[in-house]
Amino acid sequence: MLNEFLQTPIEFLKGVGPQRALLLKKEAGIYTFDDLLNYFPFRYVDRSQYHSISELPTLDGPAQLKGMIIHVSERQVGKQTRLIAKFQDRTGIIELVWFQGGKWIKPLLKLNTEFQVYGKAKLFGSSFNIPHPEIIEFEKVKSEKGLQAVYSSTEKLSMNGLSSKGICKITAQLIDHLKGKIDETLPYSMVNELRLISREAALTQIHCPTDEIRAMSARIRLKFEELFFLQLEMLMRKQISIRKTGGHVFPEVGSAFTDFYENHLPFNLTGAQKRVLKEIRKDFMTGHHMNRLLQGDVGSGKTLVALLTMLMGIGNGFQGALMAPTEILATQHFVTLAEMLKEMDIKLELLTGSVGKKDRKRIHEGLESGEVHILVGTHALLEDVVKFKNLGIVVIDEQHRFGVAQRARMWKKNTIPPHVLVMTATPIPRTLAMTFYGDLDVSVIDELPPGRKAITTSHKFEANRLAVFGFMKSEIAKGRQIYVVYPLIKESETLDYNNLMDGYEAISRYFPLPDYRVSIVHGQMKAADKEFEMQRFVKGETQIMVATTVIEVGVNVPNASVMIIESSERFGLSQLHQLRGRVGRGAEQSYCVLMTGIKLSKESKKRLETMVRTNDGFEIAEVDLELRGPGDIMGTQQSGELDLKIADLAKDGQIVVLARDNARKILGEDPLLENPNHSIIREKLRKIMMSKPNWGSIS
Ligand code: ADP
Ligand code: MG
Repeated sequence: MLNEFLQTPIEFLKGVGPQRALLLKKEAGIYTFDDLLNYFPFRYVDRSQYHSISELPTLDGPAQLKGMIIHVSERQVGKQTRLIAKFQDRTGIIELVWFQGGKWIKPLLKLNTEFQVYGKAKLFGSSFNIPHPEIIEFEKVKSEKGLQAVYSSTEKLSMNGLSSKGICKITAQLIDHLKGKIDETLPYSMVNELRLISREAALTQIHCPTDEIRAMSARIRLKFEELFFLQLEMLMRKQISIRKTGGHVFPEVGSAFTDFYENHLPFNLTGAQKRVLKEIRKDFMTGHHMNRLLQGDVGSGKTLVALLTMLMGIGNGFQGALMAPTEILATQHFVTLAEMLKEMDIKLELLTGSVGKKDRKRIHEGLESGEVHILVGTHALLEDVVKFKNLGIVVIDEQHRFGVAQRARMWKKNTIPPHVLVMTATPIPRTLAMTFYGDLDVSVIDELPPGRKAITTSHKFEANRLAVFGFMKSEIAKGRQIYVVYPLIKESETLDYNNLMDGYEAISRYFPLPDYRVSIVHGQMKAADKEFEMQRFVKGETQIMVATTVIEVGVNVPNASVMIIESSERFGLSQLHQLRGRVGRGAEQSYCVLMTGIKLSKESKKRLETMVRTNDGFEIAEVDLELRGPGDIMGTQQSGELDLKIADLAKDGQIVVLARDNARKILGEDPLLENPNHSIIREKLRKIMMSKPNWGSIS
């Protein structure tokens, strides 16, 4: 049977043997035939296409050439012997260079013999050469097929005959034995309808393609399959959690909500806030367990939604918790909520890593007795000692830092798991949201509170410094306040600190007392001093706040209308967007100025251009994904949870959507996958789920 065949240990493949098998396991994680089959090439070389030497300077990637070696020489450079061969075709001559290993290569370089050369031309001084090309006598390659797969290999593998080419050979060997042994994993109707190629064809073609179109079809088929099962798993997870774990029912909106809404609401809710609250309210009445993602741009008013959501729980006799990724953010939430609730009889506590033993004990007791209504904190909330009397609703303000596993830990805080609302600090690209939060329902706040004017963003160089200072003066004259933010990146902390201090001095000189007052806040200050300076700025006693990124998630000062970001080329897009979101909170026109040096990488340019062009966090998130890839955006921990083999969430957005739609359609028709036509997907899904230890705690 197929599976047994594919589970055969790799040493039994012809051409492998025990020693190479050991290396394959160690270096590439290949233990079985199946592993080898799933070790996909990352590109192809077309062995039938040749470039000419004269074209090389215009090419981006590697090229394949055909020609003769007309001269071989060695040059001594320090201790190294460099091997140089002059290679000629009809259009010109180029040098092939080996910095190492020349003594093995040299005997192969016969004159007046046709060779095929493959490599990438590099500019070396004023002329091009090809360092370390692959080179082979043309006689020997004539029989090779057109398109050849290129695999990643390691030095150890290469030295043992398993360079990309070697891997290609053993894989071809395996493919030869596969005919009729690869089971389809998708229903025939789906394969047919989507015009996918069969699994067997895909696995054959991805390794040994007959042409480019088939190689492409193979990739699409395998990407679709991977994403389809991922989406299916996410939807199934959601379905099971709804079915198995009923949620708390909050039959009424409750008096806490109503009292706040009628008597203490600081402003009218936006349409989007109202809509989202309705969606949440609906979840609370169904008896289903709510597991909802709230997406909304910076400044869209998520905190208020979080509070109103928790108040619904409290009015129904439950407790609420609000969890934030950092202590600063948790503290900020605590202060905001305490302020909004100050006239109500609701007990609020803050629990972070720096809460002392005595207070901690008091808080723990208050939670267990039910005296505390709302607990705000960091992941300290997740600790097992933190027990609630009756936790009904958890809000996670997450900045992409909490994964599925952590959510699951919150679920265990009550026999019936509390409802969960996950809020993202910056919007997440659609394909990532679908994939990483595919088990959640999604609500979107797509409207900013009224009266906000779009922030005007510009990019300025150091040479414009005086003009920027002049602009700051004119804004201050209008009564506005200004942030000047410096990067603080761990590795160069002292350097950054010096920059900050230099900047502070320059500003203090240019904005002298008594007309101007300047605050400074940075990580090396004592908490109390920081707080003091923050408060001076909040109260309007100082006009300029010079700070490191501590303010990113910190203060809310509606009168601040200018954000100057220094060395902004060093910030990531989402951080820039977050920082910019500190202004534009009042009724005045606000500005963001991105200061940079002259030298900018292509990526920095793109980031700056994007910031100048748009204020839309969703659009910015898409560009960020393109630039950084999903791993960096979601954090390695979470992307590790997924571990995609072939699909690329940054590039395969269309396939993600297609996979999502199809998974949805199938579960819509057949929620338990009982239809015999679906038995193959049920079987495969079952295996996927069993291999995930998290599964148990989540369903
Ligand atoms: P975020 O979604 O980034 O967490 P916040 O909840 O911090 O946004 O809200 C940003 C600012 O908008 C706060 O000053 C908040 O008080 C204010 N705000 C929130 N909702 C409204 C509203 N409906 N009308 C006016 N201002 C609002
Ligand atoms: Mg917020």
